[in-house]
This record gives sequence, C-alpha cells and structure tokens, in this order.
Amino acid sequence: MRPEILFPLFAPATTLKGVGPRVAPLLEKLAGPIVRDVLFLAPHAVIRRRPATVATALEGEVQTFEVEIEAYVKPRGAQPWKVRTFDGTGFLTLTFFGSFGAQLEPRHPVGSKRIVSGKVERYGSELQLAHPDYMVAPDKAHEIPELEAVYPATAGLPPRTVRKFAHEALERAPELPEWQDPAWLAREGFPAWKASLIRLHSPATEADLLPTAPHVRRLAYDELLAHQLAMAQRKADRRREPAAKILAGPISDRIEADLPFRLTGAQIRALSEIRGDLMAGERMSRLIQGDVGSGKTVVAMLAMADVAASGGQSALMAPTEILARQHFETLSGPLAAHGITAVLLTGRDKGAGRAEKLRALASGEAQVAVGTHALFQDEVAFHRLEFAVIDEQHRFGVAERQRLQAKGAATHLLAMSATPIPRTLELTLYGDLDVSRIDEKPPGRTPVATRAVPMGRVGEVEARLRAVVAEGAQAFWICPLVSESELIDLKAAEQRAAELRERIGPGVGLVHGKMTGAEKDAVMADFADGKISVLVATTVVEVGVNVPNATIMVIEQAERFGLAQLHQLRGRVGRGRRESSCVLLYDPPLSENAQKRLDILRRTDDGFQIAETDLELRGGGDALGLKQSGFPAYVFADPFAHRDLIAVAGDDARLILARDPELTSPRGQALRVLQELFDWRAASTLKDAG
Ligand code: ADP
Ligand code: MG
Repeated sequence: MRPEILFPLFAPATTLKGVGPRVAPLLEKLAGPIVRDVLFLAPHAVIRRRPATVATALEGEVQTFEVEIEAYVKPRGAQPWKVRTFDGTGFLTLTFFGSFGAQLEPRHPVGSKRIVSGKVERYGSELQLAHPDYMVAPDKAHEIPELEAVYPATAGLPPRTVRKFAHEALERAPELPEWQDPAWLAREGFPAWKASLIRLHSPATEADLLPTAPHVRRLAYDELLAHQLAMAQRKADRRREPAAKILAGPISDRIEADLPFRLTGAQIRALSEIRGDLMAGERMSRLIQGDVGSGKTVVAMLAMADVAASGGQSALMAPTEILARQHFETLSGPLAAHGITAVLLTGRDKGAGRAEKLRALASGEAQVAVGTHALFQDEVAFHRLEFAVIDEQHRFGVAERQRLQAKGAATHLLAMSATPIPRTLELTLYGDLDVSRIDEKPPGRTPVATRAVPMGRVGEVEARLRAVVAEGAQAFWICPLVSESELIDLKAAEQRAAELRERIGPGVGLVHGKMTGAEKDAVMADFADGKISVLVATTVVEVGVNVPNATIMVIEQAERFGLAQLHQLRGRVGRGRRESSCVLLYDPPLSENAQKRLDILRRTDDGFQIAETDLELRGGGDALGLKQSGFPAYVFADPFAHRDLIAVAGDDARLILARDPELTSPRGQALRVLQELFDWRAASTLKDAG
C-alpha cells in the first residue's frame, strides 16, 4: 500500500495550477501523468542574465538593459516589428516577428522606460534583441531572475511554463523520512532528499546540472538503491521457494565424456555453479553470460541431463525457429545416446505430429523439450517440468519467461545471453539473477581478420568475394534494417542480392524478417548444406545460428550498428580452423568517434572488453542497445556517469536485507517509501529488467 505521505506526489498532474485539458497531454508527454513526474523533471540548462549597457553589450550573451522606448517602426511585408530604444550609451533594437507587434505600443508607449532582457544579436550595424525574454517597467525589475533554469519543452508548452509547473510540484513535495545511511550521506557530502530537489530546480551554476553535482548524485543513488533493493528482494524471495533437489549424476558425466572436445575452464566453472544451485533445494535463477560461440548450449545440455537423470523434465526455449532447430540438432543425439528423449516443438508442428509430441511431454516420456514460443502455449503440459532454459533471454518478455516457468512448480531458471554487458552494468540488468560468465573461447578458433572499407570500394569487396567463393568459401552479407521503412530496407537487400548474383553467380540467397519461418529455414538449410555460397540477410542471422563453413562476414552500413551487435555478427564466422574475415562497409565520412568504435573491433575479439570500451566511448547512452536488452529507463541515474554508484547500491541493498529482511525497522520503513516513490517494488514485474 502506498504510504499516505506520498499521496500529494501521486496525484494527477492536472491538480497542478494551470494544467488544464490542453496542457495536460503535453505535460504528460514531457514528464508523465503524476505530480511526481513533474517534480522529477530536471532543467537541462541555466541562463545567467547580466546587467549591461548598449556600449558594453556582448554579442551572444544574455543581458539585461534599462532603456527608453524611442520609436516604433511598422513592418513592411515579412519584416519584423522594430522598436527603437536608447539607454544613454547607445541604441538597441527590439524586434518582433508575427502579427502581435501592434499590441506592443499601447503597453510600452514611446517615452516609457523599460527593463529588457534577452540574447544580444548584431544585425548589420544594429544591436538587437529578437523577442526579448523580458520587457517590464523598472518597478517590476525584480521579476527578472538573474539565474534561470531552462526546462525541456515541447510544442505548445514553453520552457518557462514547464518551470512554473515544476516549481509548483516542488511546493507539494513533503519532507520524507531519511532512507539513506546518515554516515554515508555525510561522507559523500549528499544533501537530504528535499534539499536535493530544491537544488535541482534552482541551479546556481552550470555545474549544478552535471551528473557529478552532489544533489544529482544523491537522487541518482536513491533511484539505484530503490532498484537494487527490489531486485535483491526478488532474488531472496525466490531463494525461499523450495525447489527440486537435483544431483549431478553419472549420465551427464558420460555425455560429457562422449563429446568430441573437452569443456573449457569457463564452461566447467559455469556448470559447477549451476549444479551447486540445482542441488541446494532452492529455486535457481541464474544467467550464463557468454560471447557468441563460447559454448553455452553444451553447459545447458549437461544440466538438463542431470535433471532428466533425477526424473524431471527440462525445456529449452529459443527466440527463433532456426535456433530452436539448431539446438535440437545439437542436443538430441548426445542425449538419446544415453536414453534421454528430446522433442522439438515449434509453431510449425501441427496435427497428429504435434499431438504425439504433446503427449510425450505430458506423460513424461520425453524428458527434454526444445522449442520456440510454442513451448508455453496453453495446450502444452509437462509431467514434471523442473528446469527452464531460456536462450537469448532478452528476446523474450518477462511474461513469456514466466509463462514457461509456470508449466512447472518452482521451476529452476537458467537464462543465457550473448550480449556482452560491461561489468559495471551487470548489476543493473541482472541484479536479481546469479551470473556465471563464460569468458573463454573454445580452443582452435582463429581470430577473424577485421577491416573497415568505405562503401565506394564495394566493387573490390565483391570481386574478392567472387574469387574466394570460386574456391568454395561461404559468406554472410548483412544489409541492416536502418531506414524508417522496412519496405525500403527490404528492397535494398533484394537489390544487393540481385547485384551479387550478377557478379558472383547463382549461389546467392536472401533471407529476411518478412519471410515465414519455413521459408527462412529452407534458405538457411541451403546455406548450411553449401547450396548457397553467399547469404544476403537483414539482421536475422544475428542470433546464434551456426554455419561453421562460413568464413566471410560483410556488413553494410556498419557504422549504424551498436558495437555489441557488430561483434555478435562477426561471431558468426571464425568458428572453424580456416582463416576468416569480416568487412565493415561504411558510408564515409566517419566521425572520429565512429572511427574509434570500428577500430576497437579490429583490435580485440573479447566481447566484454568491446562492450566496456564502447560504453567509455559513447559515454553511456544506448551504445549497447541497452534499452532493447531491457535496461531500465532511469530518471536521475546515468548508467555511465554514475557507474561507481551502481556497485555501492548493490552492496547496500544486500546489507539492508540481511539486517532487516522485511524492512520493518525505521530505516526499513523509510526505504519502503523510497521504493514507492520510484515504483521499484519487489513485485513490480512491469519494470522488471532481468
Ligand atoms: P553459444 O551458444 O555460446 O554461442 P554454442 O553452444 O552454440 O555457443 O557453441 C558453439 C560451437 O562450439 C558449437 O559448435 C559447439 O559444439 C562448440 N563447442 C562448445 N564447447 C566447446 C569446447 N569446449 N571445445 C570445442 N568446441 C566447443
Ligand atoms: Mg547460442
């Protein structure tokens, strides 16, 4: 239940003075629907107005003058209204575009003294203020603030109106009980919550707007702590749920021994962490973070074998049919060799075939289900689902993951992700999961030679491609979806395929997102069988598909991609022992930053390192496609500028829950207010990031 003290902040924004039916939707777009959202709307600039005389006026500065109105000059045609003024040191022209110039004269008659303020511009030999911000009689001079916070605005809602609303919201803000540790506040020099907000809305300098300002850091820390606390609570809640105890057994050892390779150290570590969870009798929630090709699937397979050996069932869910099929092909053989039956269930299963698979799952005859979204449909029932594995977990919504887990009681969860996340951000995304990192590649991979080539030289790339294809090589050619219209992008991809067919020969295929699963599968199968040499694709091959014979990756408009995505695409090649290469085609000129970003890819093959550097280079923002990966939309916290605070908030949250699991102490009560304030509650799945 929401504490009463927060009621004023959770009232609709329409309760603010001046927010009527016209303004409300605009304000909602800008800030949000409630008073709190307006309160949290920070100014993004400050204007300092300095008093000046015309003789000392500085072009480009915002200055204030005391002048006398000398004359009005009516406009001719599209000219502005001009008001000539004089301040004893020189002439200043005020210009007004639009029709309302005529209304000025009665309000500011010739001969009257006025204080005017605005940005000084030069127009020919004249100094002018175009549409001054202020034009008041001398006895109203106090109405012009020396410092003024500039708020975000939108059409129909100017910054100064927004500022008025924000300040009114500030007046509604109550003093709240302190939820932070006083010693920590003192050490960091953080002001109290209300004081921080007052400072936020009355910045005294530019520095007050920076993420490094103590009051901004305080608010950011509040937000991060609220989030970390919610995730830690969720993790603790799950741990309290008893779940099937699953012991590692001889069957999975035998399957491992049969593999044509040895597990890497990182795979062994991940597997033993999973086994530790599975035998604990508590519900597991673990994520395997591992670069493309790091061998996550095998690890999941061995854990599934343990589950099967102890009499339970597992489900492995992948975001696309192609991937599900590939997983099935990887798993079903090794499992079957040791008496474990797997079935593949996708949207393509129909009729009697599907009925038979459903029966096998419901009876427990099949111990492993591999599939797509088809796995969590209502008709699918398991005999004893104990273990859910979700590949490329960020491609699924929270609800979808939960629907699959709900097919069993207290189902252990293993999520897998190939999107490298910098360590500093891991807690933010996955604070409610335990994370195993596979940070080592299987041996025998040759690094992919990577180079950036301007689009003007695409002819050379095509010629080179023709030569290597003649020798039996295979290549991916990625035409990204970048324009507003998918149709235009699709056309571009079709054109590229046609052009390559002309230059290279008939073995050029095209796969894109508008095709049905069956059509995509058919093309992919031809590529895997070598019937197609060059596969032109929009980004559908991005995720997980394994074609070991492909050794060349060409990416058009590479500068448009996030680095993590480029890295993942490149990971499609270089899987065998043969020399592989990646060509990043770009539209010149490249900005210095874009140049640096493409350079990182040439220098390293370590996804985590790439993600880390990308974050540094971009200075946060959406470098890593964070939003798509479910990164929370914070109000105050900046994942880059406040990255030092993320880890502290994580530790703090754990400590708080260890001492006061139910948040009943006075500080605990205050922390509940904090969680409400930011909508980060243990049970709020809507804002769930993991
Ligand atoms: P991921 O899902 O992490 O991208 P996969 O599980 O698809 O990677 O593995 C990629 C390829 O590497 C597969 O062909 C797999 O058989 C192979 N592989 C996995 N582990 C090893 C290992 N330890 N040594 C050699 N090859 C491995
Ligand atoms: Mg995979």
